[in-house]
Amino acid sequence: MPRNKGFVLASRPQGEAKAENFRLVEQDVGEPGEGQVLVKHHYLSLDPYMRGRMDESKSYAASQNLNETMIGGTVGEVVASKNPNFKVGDHVVGSGGWQLYQLSDGKGLQKIDTSRVPIQAYVGALGMPGVTAWYGLNKIIAPKKGETVVVSAATGAVGAVVGQLAKGKGARAVGIAGGPDKCRYATDELGYDACVDHRAPDFAEKLKAALPNGVDGLFENVGGQPFALTTRRLNAFARIAICGLIASYEGKEKSSLEDLRILLVNRAKIEGFIVSDHLALWPEALKELIELAATGKLKWRETIAQGLESAPEAFFGMLKGKNFGKQLVKLI
Ligand code: NDP
Repeated sequence: MPRNKGFVLASRPQGEAKAENFRLVEQDVGEPGEGQVLVKHHYLSLDPYMRGRMDESKSYAASQNLNETMIGGTVGEVVASKNPNFKVGDHVVGSGGWQLYQLSDGKGLQKIDTSRVPIQAYVGALGMPGVTAWYGLNKIIAPKKGETVVVSAATGAVGAVVGQLAKGKGARAVGIAGGPDKCRYATDELGYDACVDHRAPDFAEKLKAALPNGVDGLFENVGGQPFALTTRRLNAFARIAICGLIASYEGKEKSSLEDLRILLVNRAKIEGFIVSDHLALWPEALKELIELAATGKLKWRETIAQGLESAPEAFFGMLKGKNFGKQLVKLI
């Protein structure tokens, strides 16, 4: 039997998450018991929500327990099974956490078809981030042809899908991203009509110039000052989907509207959402996204860290915007 390795949460961060907040543990994998299945993970997904779970403050989900394997989405293959629903060789997606192997009773594991798309897409554009994009765009913003939709973190796991879906609805898609390379990728590869670099000194003027017809839909992934500046350009009856506020997750930047009057005078709607509240819609969303991907109509990029030991550093990098596309850790 191989040895399992994984990271547990050793302590809660004060401000920025640090290496000392994690501890690497090693133990025997163990044989599956009756009804159990052993999964060897190929990829671990690193996602911004993990930072929130490391804290103890009130949120939409319970905190990560100390000394337990860090929560995380995983894809992998069944290597031993005493569960009639899974056989050796099946590819699965689940919440296996920051570890090489997972012993599971099969609950929360989904079989996936990797014949047309790569396995790791099921924790990215064809998994939780993709469904998040689909839900916020279709159910909250619901853009009409010709409307302008702004997407922050425009090239990230969620944002890249939002931009392409918005274009598919006939909207004008304007991205906000960190740096010229990400902006070039947004327009040249993902099909955004324009992209504004939030790190550039003339960001405010460039943003204004990119929005000659104002903003009808805002898919907010970041918060901070770019959010406040974008809301100055809202049109009447604009819709704002609050998906994430990553700029505020480590307490560095405040994310707020400059003035509620912006909503009143524009009769605008603002709605926060969490994708796991809408599980009934996942099959519909995934069917559409998988079809788009398999036919080459949905693109994304990945930043892949090699080996489990690289997970903490890759995670800190993602929280600082160093990732370019979906942040993954390759485990095999
Ligand atoms: P990304 O792949 O987009 O990675 C995060 C990106 O945030 C960075 O690459 C960076 O891109 C951007 N960013 C901008 N400003 C900052 C900042 N001050 N600090 C750090 N990062 C910054 O991540 P995801 O696509 O996985 O997630 C995007 C957002 O969606 C997050 O806020 C996340 O919490 C949220 N989310 C919400 C869900 C829900 O159910 N509501 C579900 C899944 C995700 P750049 O350099 O281009 O600015």
